[in-house]
Amino acid sequence: MGLLYLGTPLTWDEAKQYADHVREHGITQFLYTWDRVKDRWGDELLWGDEVEYMVVTFDDKEKNAKLSLRQTEILAKLSQVVGDLTDDDTPALMTVPTFHPEYGRYMLESTPGSPYTGSIPDLLSVETNMHYRRTLAKRHLKENEIPFTFTSFPRLGTNGIFTEPHFSSDDAKSSHSLFLPEEITNPHARFPTLTANIRSRRGSKVAINLPIFIDEKTPRPFVDPTIPWQRSIYQEDPEAKNGAALIDHIYMDAMGFGMGCCCLQLTFQSCNVDEARRMYDALIPVGPIMLALTAASPAWRGYLADVDSRWNVIAGSVDDRTPEERGLRPSKDNYTIPKSRYDSVDLYIANNWTNKPEYNDAHVPYNKGIFQRLRNHGIDEMLAKHVAHLFIRDPLVIFSETINQDDTTSNDHFENIQSTNWQTLRFKPPPPNSPIGWRVEFRSMEVQMTDFENAAFAVFIVLLSRAILAFNLNFYIPISKVDQNMARAQKRDAARSGKFYFRKDVLPPGHDTLTISPLSCSGSSSPVEGAPAKEKLLRNCFPSVPRPSFVEDGPIEDEYEEMTVEEIFVGKGSKFPGLLGVVEAYIDTLDVDEGDRSQINKYLDLVRRRAIGSLQTPATWIRNFVRSHPSYNRDSVVSQEINYDLMVAVDEIERGVRRVPELLPEDYAPTNGYHSKPNSP
Ligand code: ADP
Ligand code: MG
Ligand code: MG
Ligand code: MG
Ligand code: MG
Ligand code: MG
Repeated sequence: MGLLYLGTPLTWDEAKQYADHVREHGITQFLYTWDRVKDRWGDELLWGDEVEYMVVTFDDKEKNAKLSLRQTEILAKLSQVVGDLTDDDTPALMTVPTFHPEYGRYMLESTPGSPYTGSIPDLLSVETNMHYRRTLAKRHLKENEIPFTFTSFPRLGTNGIFTEPHFSSDDAKSSHSLFLPEEITNPHARFPTLTANIRSRRGSKVAINLPIFIDEKTPRPFVDPTIPWQRSIYQEDPEAKNGAALIDHIYMDAMGFGMGCCCLQLTFQSCNVDEARRMYDALIPVGPIMLALTAASPAWRGYLADVDSRWNVIAGSVDDRTPEERGLRPSKDNYTIPKSRYDSVDLYIANNWTNKPEYNDAHVPYNKGIFQRLRNHGIDEMLAKHVAHLFIRDPLVIFSETINQDDTTSNDHFENIQSTNWQTLRFKPPPPNSPIGWRVEFRSMEVQMTDFENAAFAVFIVLLSRAILAFNLNFYIPISKVDQNMARAQKRDAARSGKFYFRKDVLPPGHDTLTISPLSCSGSSSPVEGAPAKEKLLRNCFPSVPRPSFVEDGPIEDEYEEMTVEEIFVGKGSKFPGLLGVVEAYIDTLDVDEGDRSQINKYLDLVRRRAIGSLQTPATWIRNFVRSHPSYNRDSVVSQEINYDLMVAVDEIERGVRRVPELLPEDYAPTNGYHSKPNSP
């Protein structure tokens, strides 16, 4: 979430009058930024992760695991703790971490105190860094509270007691939810206002329906007996019985169901804007694949779902489109918006010949006036369209105190729209008054239960991003196929049984092998002729390949095919060594000593074993845990007792006291991080 400004938020009726004002000044701010940074060049690779936690309170007498609503106190405590720490108190290579608020009043987010560099020691400090942050959080919670890196809380919104303290949903004044109390939401004005204004703009509550997992004794048809069908407190209460809640589905009606999920995000700094655009594009087709491989959320509102991951729940949870925009009611200009403001990327943006116009084959509405303004300012068509597409959305939260800004020094209005377009990738321009360069954020992954896994996926993605640049890989497929992959990625067992569109030949034209481009970066290394010497750094600033004269364009349809996740990772055919193949070839170009290499291999092995199916995804493991619980009635219900035992088990797994060879490597231990043994915080 963006910066939390304290002020007076406008209701939707007030805010919408300023929508054009925010858009207009947001674009002015973007143009000032653009003029300032369009030629910025030579930023080194800096990168960082964001890990989200849910704090759970254990009631061992009642056998209940509940979400602890103490975010405000916990964050105050943690900020005091980290404020008192100096870099001398923190483990080698680490700076004092940062903890941030998130949507759920039971959630925390942590980031490394400053970004990692491209050094190998920094790469190998990620797990220890994550472990250190978890340890810090753990030590400053109550005795019976534990921070979990867990994607969706299985009992959120049940009619049992799922928060500590307990509150009734009768008083859900922002969401009007049948299931979630007002107190589930971070009390900072931004969050209840977002919740209420999404509902108001949309003209109804959000409506999320996940297909229920049909087990032997699941009643058919499944008409959820836990929905208070007859409640009549809020005007929207009849929506459930009037068609919003589908039969054979798990129905959810509030922003908290989605924004209350935890995920793992990574941000990379690029050498310059063109490289950021190439990186962004290359990671677009990777988004759904990584969603499938990290799937970790099979249980929702007390039931097992027939999906393994969170994406559609969050997309639905902030879907503020009007009925006309959703195409449910005719409008005078037939203007529709195909997707929620939280969804997969709609447009490739690289300024490169490999990005063929045909790949952008989705219907992408954009703000024509803004597009023209950007074009008149000299911005190329693709980037102009990207921004004009983000700016079809209304600003949802406006504070009366910040309506008028100095557009030459502020980016608040731009960020208001930008940061509420929650897509699989985010293209982040450099903020004003800061040393930060162009960045790309990778946002599709589910958070994993252990730091080892989270570090493994972070390390894998940063290495993949370097391999893409160093070898000039081409991952383009039509964006409509990426959308199809996104839907497939969420299905139950997608990582093992799904098929995904992927590119058959990822090598640059004329190449039969992976060849590293000569470095052209500023910094420690000067341009090199031929094969560059081995490097101690992960870097950026690799030049792109110009279009060779011999390239002939065949039909786009011949460029990709359906592959299993295993094939996507280990390779298929002579022109696609697989994502692991390219990462390994890239590591071979680095000057990495044996110990470091073996640590990297542990992370890549986790990715490989997930991909080939010899280790389960967290989603499969959680589903199996529920289904094999002695008190499970084979009716899809995740009871309070099952949930309690599940959370106890997950904590034991994380601490390494419960062995789960189907989920983690045999030698897993939470302190296996390479530069391990953080000092006592
Ligand atoms: P947001 O919530 O807007 O996505 P956060 O501030 O929570 O962003 O996280 C940003 C991540 O980017 C952190 O891991 C941080 O360490 C990292 N980061 C900070 N500065 C840079 C930079 N210059 N380049 C790349 N990553 C950075
Ligand atoms: Mg977050
Ligand atoms: Mg963040
Ligand atoms: Mg954020
Ligand atoms: Mg983020
Ligand atoms: Mg660890």
